[in-house]
Amino acid sequence: MEKSWRKGRRVAIVGGGPGGISAAIAFRTAGYDVKVFERSAKPRPLGGAVMISTPVMEILRSYDIDIVNNFASQTVTNFANHKGKPRVSLPFVKELELASGIPGWHYGILRSTTCDKMMEVLNAKAPDTIVGNHALESYEETETGVTLHFTDAKNVEADLLVGADGIRSAVSKQAFGEPDLLHVGLRVWLAWCEDVPGVDRDNGWIHHSRNVQASYFPMKHEGKPGFEWWIVERSGPNATQPTDVEAHMRNLPRPLSTLRDFAFDHTGILQKFVEKDYRATVSRILRALPELHVG
Ligand SMILES: Cc1cc2nc3c(=O)[nH]c(=O)nc-3n(C[C@H](O)[C@H](O)[C@H](O)COP(=O)(O)OP(=O)(O)OC[C@H]3O[C@@H](n4cnc5c(N)ncnc54)[C@H](O)[C@@H]3O)c2cc1C
Repeated sequence: MEKSWRKGRRVAIVGGGPGGISAAIAFRTAGYDVKVFERSAKPRPLGGAVMISTPVMEILRSYDIDIVNNFASQTVTNFANHKGKPRVSLPFVKELELASGIPGWHYGILRSTTCDKMMEVLNAKAPDTIVGNHALESYEETETGVTLHFTDAKNVEADLLVGADGIRSAVSKQAFGEPDLLHVGLRVWLAWCEDVPGVDRDNGWIHHSRNVQASYFPMKHEGKPGFEWWIVERSGPNATQPTDVEAHMRNLPRPLSTLRDFAFDHTGILQKFVEKDYRATVSRILRALPELHVG
């Protein structure tokens, strides 16, 4: 570690999520020595698909990642009510497109793709930056910098500590006290599938009722087209988890009861799924869906 850990230039980043990796690229590019201390053996991207907009695309482009052409899908974002009636379409902004050189506004992409691409950039710049199996316990400010204390690993001296260790950050807890986290009362279901031929790839739809938001958005996965899906519904900290996910989806209150109701019927996608016998695919996707509580 010594050669690439020069006193006066040592930046210790705690947490290897997208925030930590992005900060590491930026500090490396500015000429600092950087280590990312991650508690897992190696970084694991959280969640499934994401919608990212022009400012984030600009940051990724500044890392020489050609997201626009290879990994994301330029999309018009539309909002509709639970009956599928369009309410708002987010316009592109000409001035922004000209100033940034990036067409459109919203892009669908898998979080894992974004993280993998950033990791490739970081590894090309400095392959030993990520240090796995290092869970920060506490830190101590010294006269010359900061000492990091890890569970089951040696202390590390640095000049600057960056806390990028997520929503339950140990760095933030020591600096500012216990986070006052609250359950936001939502349950989120995420999934993605490969392309569905014949479905409009220029528009993403966000459908709302009082209790459920159900949406789909075009995206690209490893250069190939696909769609990302997500459903947000009311939940609570003590809510029991459905054991039969597919049945749960199909029993959500009508008319926003299922993918069929709010996405498929109103966009013609179900038609395509039925015609092309994609039902089995949907059923597999539903069975594989991870459930994440946002808290
Ligand atoms: C279901 C869901 C959907 C989302 N959808 C979107 C979306 O569409 N668009 C969007 O922009 N954002 C979305 N987000 C938010 C996005 O995931 C977060 O904003 C993002 O992951 C935050 O990145 P981060 O690097 O700050 O933290 P994290 O991704 O939480 O990474 C923190 C890292 O720190 C590590 N760590 C934690 N504690 C320690 C410790 N003590 N020592 C060492 N390492 C530690 C963890 O293992 C982890 O690798 C979503 C989040 C969820 C849960």
